[in-house]
Amino acid sequence: MPTIFSHGIFAVLAGKGFLKKPAWFWLTAAVCAMIPDADVVAFRFGVPYENMFGHRGFTHSIAFALLLGAAAALLVRFFRPDGYSFSKLFLFFALVTFSHPFFDMLTDGGLGVALFAPLSAERFFFPWRPIRVSPIGARFFGAEGPNVILSEIFLVWLPAAAIFLSAMIIRRFRRPN
Ligand SMILES: [Zn+2]
Repeated sequence: MPTIFSHGIFAVLAGKGFLKKPAWFWLTAAVCAMIPDADVVAFRFGVPYENMFGHRGFTHSIAFALLLGAAAALLVRFFRPDGYSFSKLFLFFALVTFSHPFFDMLTDGGLGVALFAPLSAERFFFPWRPIRVSPIGARFFGAEGPNVILSEIFLVWLPAAAIFLSAMIIRRFRRPN
């Protein structure tokens, strides 16, 4: 993974440029983008990395993004029945969740992402993998830490900031007066 926080930051920063939404909405988006890495508990239970339900397994699949997108949309609809269409919320939160495995597929270490779990356990990466993989747990604070943060600032945070700024500029030009 890129560091778990980067997943959340990307989701919020990139989305905020396009949508004016309250804080709880962005909190839900950030949680969706970070939840896939809850699968590291699998290591605790002795599930091997390469297992379909190991790290970067099912929770990093397209199917999981759709499920979590639907769950988040239902949750928002439950608390705010008015003003939000289910299909738009579903699409948004599914995309936000999917941004997580998307970035993981750009990292240079670990195993790939089980995009098609639970149908297949095969792991995938993009052919271009510029992001340094974030060490898991305590090793994060070791010698590799600063390199990981730097690669994420350039390859995740800066693109997110660029998307945010261009969306703001587009909005400004579109607004009458
Ligand atoms: Zn991940």
